Amino acid sequence: MKTDLVIIGAGIIGVSLAFELSKYNIKVILVDKENDIAMQTTKANSGIVHGGYDPKPNTLMAKMNVEGNRIIKSLHKKLNFNYKETGALIIGSTDEEKEIINKLYKQGLENKVPGLSLLKNKKEVHQVEPNLNKEISYALYSQTTGIISPWELALALAYTAVSNGVKFINNCKVEKIEKNKDKFILSTTKGEIEAKYIFNAAGLYSDDIYNMVLDNPSDGFKITPIKGEYYLLDKFLGSLVNKVIFQTPSSLGKGVLVSPTVHGNLLVGPNASFDTSKDDVSTTIDGLKYVVSASKKSVDNINFFTSNIRNFSGNRATIKGVDDFILEESKIVPHFYNFAGIKSPGLTSGPAIGKYSISLLKKSGLSLTKKENFIYHKLPTFFSHLNDNEIESLIKKNKKYGNIICRCELVSEGEIVDSIHEVIPATTIDGVKRRTNAGMGRCQGSFCGPRVFEILKNELHLDIDSIYQDKGNSNVVVSYTKGNK
Ligand SMILES: Cc1cc2nc3c(=O)[nH]c(=O)nc-3n(C[C@H](O)[C@H](O)[C@H](O)COP(=O)(O)OP(=O)(O)OC[C@H]3O[C@@H](n4cnc5c(N)ncnc54)[C@H](O)[C@@H]3O)c2cc1C
Repeated sequence: MKTDLVIIGAGIIGVSLAFELSKYNIKVILVDKENDIAMQTTKANSGIVHGGYDPKPNTLMAKMNVEGNRIIKSLHKKLNFNYKETGALIIGSTDEEKEIINKLYKQGLENKVPGLSLLKNKKEVHQVEPNLNKEISYALYSQTTGIISPWELALALAYTAVSNGVKFINNCKVEKIEKNKDKFILSTTKGEIEAKYIFNAAGLYSDDIYNMVLDNPSDGFKITPIKGEYYLLDKFLGSLVNKVIFQTPSSLGKGVLVSPTVHGNLLVGPNASFDTSKDDVSTTIDGLKYVVSASKKSVDNINFFTSNIRNFSGNRATIKGVDDFILEESKIVPHFYNFAGIKSPGLTSGPAIGKYSISLLKKSGLSLTKKENFIYHKLPTFFSHLNDNEIESLIKKNKKYGNIICRCELVSEGEIVDSIHEVIPATTIDGVKRRTNAGMGRCQGSFCGPRVFEILKNELHLDIDSIYQDKGNSNVVVSYTKGNK
């Protein structure tokens, strides 16, 4: 296969790059080693569209955060992903915390974050958030902070990129890169790809990818994972707080947050654990105990025991000693671009990084012309968000929309079938979940899981032993009784 440019990695950064490039006349292939997009850090984070007061002024991180926040807000109607501008409070009670909050406020003004103000006493704070711990006496209010579903944003960007000509190849692990004078040859698990340019957006593995083109690995960088673990709580607690509640940040990051999710649940976490490896997405007793105890500082009456529906974790891709994103053409290997060290606020910054990549290509002399017929590929509206007339007319068109498969989240058979035939199809039970919400509710798929399995089998004509829950080693059926197929 020959192309102009290969993007390695289909997390939020890779799909944002693909989305932006698909507006131009350039041949692009997007590859990922997993069976779907957004399968690593992009699917396991807090889902916050950060305001932009956190990053140090004059860094790329500050610029991308503020710009990304603005772009996500303007894209959500065009692409129809769920998004809410809830606002956020960064809370404190001690003099030391107040000082940090004042610093964040000034930093935010310097970063040109709109809608920042200080709540200077208990009364003001508790008027805005009545369920906060009564000790909280000071807060920074960030009006433009929002919440999204990370994989919905990634899917919408990826669908649009593919609808505008980008080729997406899944299960395609880049194993080796040979550099010739004017091209790269990538050896992958799906064969060879020849490309003039490489965008490295491999997240936790971006150091390994860069090392493939370096003669001397010490010229590169090293990614260190830091794990964050979470509690996802049931919808009856979804409105315990109206805004994203952050504690005052420390050297370990933004701390444990309490936040509504865009689907109506309550999210609490993450901790910051160095005791991890890049592929370790386990949750631990110690990690979760820490989350519970730290959250009490924000809201002290959460009943985790009755409301917990899921725990999960994700790894931050950090580079020791570097407190900014690396977004540049390699100084050693021309035409090779790193988008690396993308820790938080990477999800927020993705769409701005996509735009920035075009300026990098232009700066290095590539002339790019815009396509005239670029289209936005909207996500379908969830059935449960439609009004009675809209539901009725859908059922008239196809009676599969009248067959409810996921009772917790009210997801119809029609939506599940549509997701399996999208431009990037759902091929696993969790792939369907990310696209339709089936399995996201209180029972976590114990009712709809077998029915989604059946629909996947019929629509994709699959043998039952090749249907996965999620990744490649998660077969739902592992063997046959009596040796029968
Ligand atoms: C606990 C936690 C909370 C966070 N909260 C927020 C938040 O609220 N808001 C926010 O803005 N940001 C947040 N972030 C940061 C954000 O999630 C990340 O910055 C972002 O998801 C990184 O995206 P990415 O595309 O760089 O990496 P990834 O999503 O990891 O994507 C990299 C992709 O590269 C692929 N890949 C790797 N190696 C290869 C190979 N050899 N061949 C082919 N493909 C390969 C992987 O399969 C993967 O899909 C959080 C992060 C964590 C961990």
